[in-house]
Formats: sequence, C-alpha cells, structure tokens
Amino acid sequence: MQALLDQIAAEMAQATDRGRVADYIPELAKIDPNQFGIAVALPSGEVLTAGDAETPFSIQSISKVFTLAIALGRLGDQIWTRVGREPSGLAFNSILQLEQENGIPRNPFVNAGAIAVTDAILQGRQPREVLAELIRFIQAAAEDDSITINQAVAKSEQATAHRNIALAEFMAAMGNLRNPTALAIGTYVHQCAVEMTAAQLARAGRFLLGAPGCPRLVSIARIRRINALMMTCGHYDASGEFAYRVGLPGKSGVGGGILAIAPGKASIAVWSPGLNDYGNSKLGAFAIEKLARGMGWSVFG
Ligand code: GLU
Repeated sequence: MQALLDQIAAEMAQATDRGRVADYIPELAKIDPNQFGIAVALPSGEVLTAGDAETPFSIQSISKVFTLAIALGRLGDQIWTRVGREPSGLAFNSILQLEQENGIPRNPFVNAGAIAVTDAILQGRQPREVLAELIRFIQAAAEDDSITINQAVAKSEQATAHRNIALAEFMAAMGNLRNPTALAIGTYVHQCAVEMTAAQLARAGRFLLGAPGCPRLVSIARIRRINALMMTCGHYDASGEFAYRVGLPGKSGVGGGILAIAPGKASIAVWSPGLNDYGNSKLGAFAIEKLARGMGWSVFG
C-alpha cells in the first residue's frame, strides 16, 4: 500500500489542472493550491502517508460528520425531525430546497442541514461548551490531544457568512432554529475551522470503521447509518459520481479535504486545496479513486 500511496502522490504532484481554491472565505483563498497529501489509517492505528500529509488544513464540512455523531448521541432519532436523510441534488449552500420543504434541510451534510444539527446540539448551551465537546470528540477519535480550531479561519468565515446567516434566518422563520442565529452561526463557523493534517484526519475517521481496535464512540448501528449518509450525501450534488467512481462513503470540505471510509478496513484522508465545480477537492477525488481501485476497496463487493 505504501508503494501505491507514493505513486499516487507522485502522479498528483505532476497534475497541472488542480481546480480552484475556495475564495469566498478569504483565509482559505490564501492557501497554495500546489499541495497534496494522503493518509490511510488502519484499524490497528497504524498510519501510512504520502505527500503533504503532515500539513494542517481546514476540515470545513468534514466537521459535519462529527457534529452528526454527537447529535445522534445527544438527541437520538429526534434529530430527524429537524433534518432529512435524502441527497439534495443542489449546491452545498443552496437555499432553494428550504423554501419548498418548510425549512427542513434535505440532509445533515449540506450547509443548512449542518446548521440545524449544530443548533440542535447547542440546545441552550453556550457555543464554547459545544465546541469543547466537539474538539474532545475529535481528539478522542484521533487519539491526539493537539487538534484545535484555527481562529483566523473562523473569524474570516464569520465575516463573510452572509449566505449561511440567510439559511439560518430562513430556518428560523420556518420554526427550525431554536437558538439565536448569531449563536448557531458562531458555533458553525468555528466547527468548520477545526484544523487537522491528513494523518490526523485519517486517524479520526477510525471511529467509523466499526472494527476491533478502533475508538468506539458511537454504536455499530449508528456507524452504519453515518456511513450511509456519507455515501448518499457526502459530496453534495456530486455524491452519485463519488459513489460511482469510488464506491466508498466519503465527506468532502471546501478546505480541500476528503475523508473516506472502507468499512472494517481503513480510514482514508486526502487533501488538496483546489476544488472542482461542485466544491470538492479535484485531486483528492482522483486520488481516492485510484487508491480504492488499487486496493480493491468498495462497499459493493
Ligand atoms: N464552512 C463552509 C461553509 O459553510 C463549509 C462548506 C464546505 O466545506 O463544503 O460555507
């Protein structure tokens, strides 16, 4: 596997069309697109890496996997009164569907859905308590106490959060936001600004493997369900394409990271900051496809 990872990293280093770095969050616009890292964590905790796997990046929407796990733990199936479980077929920050479906977002991985989930776990608590719980969860998953939030990224997203504020206000108007918008969005932008290396993210994904030796933070039944949602909704309106090409549950973020899970076998993290037209890492998706094909990993047998 190490030889395959080295080969993928070498190939990605040669790529000329690397996509475009997210520029609507000014702090992310500054990132050098000529970077690529890949890491694979095995159930034993062993991690194999290639490329820039020790460079920290903003996990952005990959944080939505961790907040969903926390919400399921806190609220159980009640969370599904606030957010659905269907692919949206729309951009990550779209407001269209909210109007058609009474302010209930399609799934927990589009922005509106993640804001509803964050609002649900806030539940009258202070944002700092929720963020401390999230960081503790991620640190426990990764077995690494050094993981933190990049405050500059959080501040930068907060300053340009007009669309997310609009989504939250729309949900508030429809009765699907329980805390003041400023608190829900303040918490949300900080969760998106959690910073990790590909090696740390791969380790953090081990809680979704459901294999002996992995941190057991949620039940096996919930692991299956979170993986199902990653497969159907983890790449916005390119989720079908990722399932077709890769065949593994995955979640992308506009920081250029992707977390993918080969159930029982491996947690994979890739990072390359340039995005495709759907807001997913361009080289990251190629790299995971090559790795999954090379290793014969697919949930479809
Ligand atoms: N913080 C980003 C936003 O809300 C997350 C989007 C993403 O990573 O896809 O716009």
